[in-house]
Amino acid sequence: MRDVVEIPARCVCGNPLVAATAPRLGNGTPFPTTYYLTHPVITSAVSRLEAAGLMNEMNERLTADEPLAAAYRAAHEDYLAARAGIGERAGIGAVPEIDGISAGGMPTRVKCLHVLVGHSLAAGPGVNPLGDEAIAGIREWWTADRCYCDGAWDTAGEAPSRDLSRHGPQGLPEIVGRPAPVRKAAGSPEATP
Ligand SMILES: [Zn+2]
Repeated sequence: MRDVVEIPARCVCGNPLVAATAPRLGNGTPFPTTYYLTHPVITSAVSRLEAAGLMNEMNERLTADEPLAAAYRAAHEDYLAARAGIGERAGIGAVPEIDGISAGGMPTRVKCLHVLVGHSLAAGPGVNPLGDEAIAGIREWWTADRCYCDGAWDTAGEAPSRDLSRHGPQGLPEIVGRPAPVRKAAGSPEATP
């Protein structure tokens, strides 16, 4: 898929965790959302945080906590700069239609945790404070130091879940919309005696 131009974050085993999409699609459409989660374990874990209402809590804190709001605005600027670099490396150049427009609700709101987690995984810790928080919040299901790929894609062939596909744009690889795996409680490290 030519619109996915880079894999900015990988599992310790090498499988992609995040795909970076060009800021202008092959059909000419300006595309502000750069980072998409490609790993079913992370995608479903972040969906759980959304369902638990974490975004509402973050939005309340953004209105009351000025240092947090400032760090989040800086994350927005980092996102724009990183996207410009991706566009440059892809040979696309400037996309003036989306100047100053990032994704996920940045710079003042949180509208999609998947976007923020994708940004944090691509940029590394310390860039997007709320993406970093969300990554910490899924540690029960996923951590960066281990491979969670075994069985993660075994569900190929089933109908994609609506919950996951709503976060993917049209034209992204099928992998983005694949259903989340069922977590095997018996196989988790916490459950191992
Ligand atoms: Zn892996």
